[in-house]
Amino acid sequence: MQYLILSDIHANWEALAAVLEQVAGRYDRVLCCGDLVGYCADPNAVVEWVIKNVSAVVRGNHDKAAADIVDLDWFNPSARMATFWTRKNLTAESLDYLRGMPKGPLPVEHFQLVHGSPLDEDEYITGLSEAWQIFDYLDKDLTFFGHSHIQGGFYRGWGRVDRIRKTDPKSDSFVLKLSDGVTYYLNPGSVGQPRDGDARAAYVLYEPEERVVTFARCPYDYSRTQVKIREAGLPDILADRLASGR
Ligand code: ZN
Repeated sequence: MQYLILSDIHANWEALAAVLEQVAGRYDRVLCCGDLVGYCADPNAVVEWVIKNVSAVVRGNHDKAAADIVDLDWFNPSARMATFWTRKNLTAESLDYLRGMPKGPLPVEHFQLVHGSPLDEDEYITGLSEAWQIFDYLDKDLTFFGHSHIQGGFYRGWGRVDRIRKTDPKSDSFVLKLSDGVTYYLNPGSVGQPRDGDARAAYVLYEPEERVVTFARCPYDYSRTQVKIREAGLPDILADRLASGR
């Protein structure tokens, strides 16, 4: 069994399509750590694809916001504008699906999916100071999370909590071999709006039998996504940031 694990697609169809082309024939099931919509201009295409192809998914804060489950007080102005735009442009079928998405943690076999943290789906786990606190609350020794849009994650083992690096900008992927007795909190990175300084779409392939996680990046034509964002009247910053991966 090979899992393709995605997160934070954010209605970026070009990034998703490029990832799927790159991994074609190399996975059996697709999982997603949330945030299907928000920021980019193809929410329905992405949600329709998820409905047909993803076998397990947890909701993200943007999915909740688009489905009108939360108020937007803590969204920044461009995220809020994108949410209003998304609400207006979702089909009834997409909206229904977003409303019904489950809250993490969601168990899948021997591991689990969350959006932010095991305690709070909206919490950002970006640094070691946040990461060391969550390990006592993990029910599984392998968890995939999203929300931060930063590929890599953290582990606890060998008497320490430490970071797992993201894929080097000069290479397409790196392989992490899981060790026994170590707890892993891993972020596949964002498909649709990377924020780790690498504009390429991010994803993970996970092979449970071999205990191997491959962190990968995939270049895509973000200029098309940028044109769609601008034509939709979404904030310019949402288009600009795709070029820098910030
Ligand atoms: Zn997100």
